[in-house]
Amino acid sequence: MYKNIQEFCKENEYEYHVIIPKNERPFRVVFKGLGLEYDTEKLKSILNNQGFQVTKAIRLTQQRNRQPLPFYLVELVKTPNVEEIYKVNRIGILKTEVEEFRARKQITQCFNCNGFGHSATGCGYRPRCLKCEGAHRTNQCTIKERVENPKCINCGKIGHVAAYRGCEKFPKLEKTQQNKINTLRPFSSTRSVIKENVSFSQLFKTQKQQPMAAPTSVSEFPNINNQEITAIKNDLTVIFSTLREIQ
Ligand SMILES: [Zn+2]
Ligand SMILES: [Zn+2]
Ligand SMILES: [Zn+2]
Repeated sequence: MYKNIQEFCKENEYEYHVIIPKNERPFRVVFKGLGLEYDTEKLKSILNNQGFQVTKAIRLTQQRNRQPLPFYLVELVKTPNVEEIYKVNRIGILKTEVEEFRARKQITQCFNCNGFGHSATGCGYRPRCLKCEGAHRTNQCTIKERVENPKCINCGKIGHVAAYRGCEKFPKLEKTQQNKINTLRPFSSTRSVIKENVSFSQLFKTQKQQPMAAPTSVSEFPNINNQEITAIKNDLTVIFSTLREIQ
């Protein structure tokens, strides 16, 4: 369903971002006990031979210093037997432990638009460059070298880029909600139907008044007030009637 709307937004050049519903997120576990240099391709094929469908196997690194960790993230297709992965206690001759993968609690900054709280995969906002604020991704910028005194595209101050954690507009983990509102991007998109910073999963939630998608996304936005909900409902009405016309 959210995919239809995503297409609709693309066609009509509305800006949006998507939070992928929990049931469509990949199944992820962490393998421990394989040491630092286990061949991830081998791990993949061993597990596939046991009836799992591994889509990805990578060794994890420490976030701060990029040091390799003896842990392996394994992403699997949600086949009926997928939970059996927790019972795997050996890979070849090595004894292993399998644990649920928990993403680090951290602020996601979108690679495409440099907004916070979503990733580039579900991003339908215009790209926005960290270096020059142009409508392109940072890695496509004509400025290739490091900018000496960059101007922050979020707070406007000189001396850091918007990915700098010390930026006053950079969301704080504890007070994500308030900061999210502050980090609304300064784009003025006259055609934007969907409120910035409100994901589709939340839109559906406010409309149906019952959990439908990722429960986490609602707790991230506890401060949506009634006025906003009404606005969202109105927006939704527009979207749905337009969708009906399309079909
Ligand atoms: Zn984005
Ligand atoms: Zn640029
Ligand atoms: Zn800043």
